Amino acid sequence: MRAETAQLPHHHKRPTCRLCDSRALDCVLELTPTPPANALISPADRNRAQVTYPLDVYRCRDCGHLQLLDIVDPKVLFSHYVYVSSTSPVMVDYLRDQASAIITRLGLKRGDLVVEIGSNDGTLLRFFKAAGMRVLGVDPAANIVPDPSDVETITDFFDAKLGARIRQQHGPAAAVCAYNVCAHIDDLQGVITGVKALLAPGGHFVFEVGYLLDVYRKTLFDTIYHEHVDFHHVGPLRGFFARNDLKLVHAERSDIQGGALVGYVGHAEAAEDESVATLVAEEREAGFDKADTFLLFGERIARRRDELTALLIGLKAKGKSIAAYGAPAKATTLMYHFGIDRSLIEYVVDDNPIKQGLLTPGLHVPILATEVLYERKPDYVLLLAWNFAESIVARHRSYAGRASRFIVPLPDLALVGGAD
Ligand SMILES: [Zn+2]
Repeated sequence: MRAETAQLPHHHKRPTCRLCDSRALDCVLELTPTPPANALISPADRNRAQVTYPLDVYRCRDCGHLQLLDIVDPKVLFSHYVYVSSTSPVMVDYLRDQASAIITRLGLKRGDLVVEIGSNDGTLLRFFKAAGMRVLGVDPAANIVPDPSDVETITDFFDAKLGARIRQQHGPAAAVCAYNVCAHIDDLQGVITGVKALLAPGGHFVFEVGYLLDVYRKTLFDTIYHEHVDFHHVGPLRGFFARNDLKLVHAERSDIQGGALVGYVGHAEAAEDESVATLVAEEREAGFDKADTFLLFGERIARRRDELTALLIGLKAKGKSIAAYGAPAKATTLMYHFGIDRSLIEYVVDDNPIKQGLLTPGLHVPILATEVLYERKPDYVLLLAWNFAESIVARHRSYAGRASRFIVPLPDLALVGGAD
């Protein structure tokens, strides 16, 4: 366990497993401490040191769940929430398909109540509304919620009390949805108590979370940052819902955002289909029932780090200039854990104008407009947004010319790009 953290501001260390309350927790992956992954700062504040928080992943010996125990106050993390679902056409299409799958699988009818936790700008709920259902959103980010005449939204954090209140005021829900939100919530037990109180007899909770099997197989370790406190897999979730007198009845994988798990949860008497046991078996095959699996995962990450560091230091020694591409939240974890700072890269370019002109969290690397690549022509560009490597390389072939100037750090180190 890491040294004193009691003095850190806006931080507490959770003593128990988020799914089963056990205190038998082992640190299986120690990542380098970082500031909040989205805490970009203005150049005027460059001399202000930013607090870094431990980024250690713990595994519960009793239920096998992987999680962070160092919790940064959600008000610090989510006060400047700027992600809006409807700005991404891929996300809108995905949520349209999800709504239609939910309606079919649950046999939802006109007039049924559908509640969404973390409803963002109402993109998912609008599809249910169009199909004739009554809808209600819950989201704490007042700056992004839609007009009430469009999608009625309660601007608050969902919890046990709010679940009961919604049932009182709007009646029982045929479906409660939570897309890409459960892993952000420290008090998951409170949320599920509220969901249970809100569900109609025969109603279902439908959730989507990042899937640990994808994180593990694709080395997506940089999706580990303080906004994500849980790294879910089916085995521990199945037990969690059972202890709450609910049942995980169906589970499926989705390709969204690197790989996700979509689960349908009914009341205790509902029947589990074969999909749940199939994924549990696949997780066991991957070794998720053993702590060693994750210690070896940490060693795999360390090897990638050593390879990348050797390459960058070698290029610097030859006098090459190196820039980086992309300043998403995941870049903070990658930069800190791989030791990529201003001694190795001169600046980062990002397509998002809101980020341009700011500095990366903690390491304070300047973020510039993408066009700068064409003006300054750095010898190499390290792709921090490596999950988009293919589309970035395709769009910027003319920068690379005939040379392989793009460095892809993960899942395997590669130099790509340039005309054939
Ligand atoms: Zn546990």
